Amino acid sequence: MRDEDLIAEVRAFLNTHWDAKKKRPKAGGGAKEFRHRVLEAGFAVPSWTAEWFGRNLAADQARLIEREFAAVAAYGAGQDKTNLFANTILAAGTDALKREVLQGLLTSEIDSCLLYSEPGAGSDLAAVRTRADRTADGWVVQGQKVWTSGARTAQYALLLARTDWDVPKHQGLSFFYMPMKQPGVDVRPLHQITGDSHFNEVFLDGAVVPEANLLGNENGGWKVLQTALAYERLVMGEGAGERRQGSGKDNRKSLIQMARSAGRLGDPVLRQKIAQALAYRQLNDLNLARAKAEMAQGTASPIMSLGKLAMSRILHGDAAVMADILGAASLLDGEENPESADMNYRALNAYMTSIGGGTDQIQRNIIAERVLGLPREIEVDRDLPFRDSRAVKG
Ligand SMILES: Cc1cc2nc3c(=O)[nH]c(=O)nc-3n(C[C@H](O)[C@H](O)[C@H](O)COP(=O)(O)OP(=O)(O)OC[C@H]3O[C@@H](n4cnc5c(N)ncnc54)[C@H](O)[C@@H]3O)c2cc1C
Repeated sequence: MRDEDLIAEVRAFLNTHWDAKKKRPKAGGGAKEFRHRVLEAGFAVPSWTAEWFGRNLAADQARLIEREFAAVAAYGAGQDKTNLFANTILAAGTDALKREVLQGLLTSEIDSCLLYSEPGAGSDLAAVRTRADRTADGWVVQGQKVWTSGARTAQYALLLARTDWDVPKHQGLSFFYMPMKQPGVDVRPLHQITGDSHFNEVFLDGAVVPEANLLGNENGGWKVLQTALAYERLVMGEGAGERRQGSGKDNRKSLIQMARSAGRLGDPVLRQKIAQALAYRQLNDLNLARAKAEMAQGTASPIMSLGKLAMSRILHGDAAVMADILGAASLLDGEENPESADMNYRALNAYMTSIGGGTDQIQRNIIAERVLGLPREIEVDRDLPFRDSRAVKG
């Protein structure tokens, strides 16, 4: 298909179904119907095969569709790049599981969460002690997870659990897509420094995972996890943590606007700081474009770690420049001080990107080892049977 024909088709679709002025589906159709139409048209995941809602398009044509959607602020397209749950299940799920959940994931009717971190297993994720034991028709799970974003509303979770204790830690893990709404799952909210409460502790006591919900091979979970983590880092590298403040592009404007309305746009030192903040964003966009090109070839790109680390620096840096612009007023908080309240929220929320999905230090380790080719960090228990490691023996 020629690019012009594809663009014409997408524009005709959007003209029919999307109100570009009001930025919502045209009268008579709600968000759910619109998402279904996007899926049926093959625009949700255009690079996937027709069997699974796609159109077999090459990555650059898939991006054309995404760009047309973005130009009118329509949603639902480009999920072959951003939907970590759907992409992980497409890559590693059984056909039965794909039939059960892919459509719901791509129309946002299914919410999911990530059951990875545990007390004692965050950066060293391969040290998880939550166990999944085989039964006649699946698995039964016992353990505790923590920092689980969105667990209260999720119907399913990507779960990392130990299925073999007698092999080294990375080799005894399996990856599952576990139903959350069942008696063995107890979700308890945690409160964040921002005042939000997005994440939770999750206690698993006899939760059941059907056989069809194993992703990849039994004890091959570490490999599947890398695919899911790469998508997460890509999304975070694009600034997912900025959602309350709007997109990264809006932020470019807002630093300049803030300085202008504070009467400080002529301050040479401040101008330099703003220019540096904007330059980091520009560089990050270019790096992300590289990372996406690698992902489109089917590689879990380590460049994603660069993007996530850069976004962490950008978010902390932007908040610092804002504090500089506001001066002493940046100490104020509350509804009556919207500018400084927003700045304070940004400063605190920046930690989401520098901790979630692997901390800044861990991204640096990944970049050192996999991008720069430096020697691996020493890990004394890497080759021991997990049962004999420090995580179990203390
Ligand atoms: C907003 C947010 C949302 C989250 N959502 C989820 C979620 O949905 N699901 C989920 O499973 N988890 C989630 N997490 C948890 C997150 O993945 C972990 O917090 C993170 O991996 C760090 O683990 P930890 O907190 O156990 O810290 P630790 O691993 O104990 O690290 C403590 C400190 O030591 C440093 N450190 C540790 N090891 C090394 C090393 N080898 N080299 C150098 N420095 C090191 C770390 O960088 C960090 O500064 C979320 C976290 C946040 C902040």
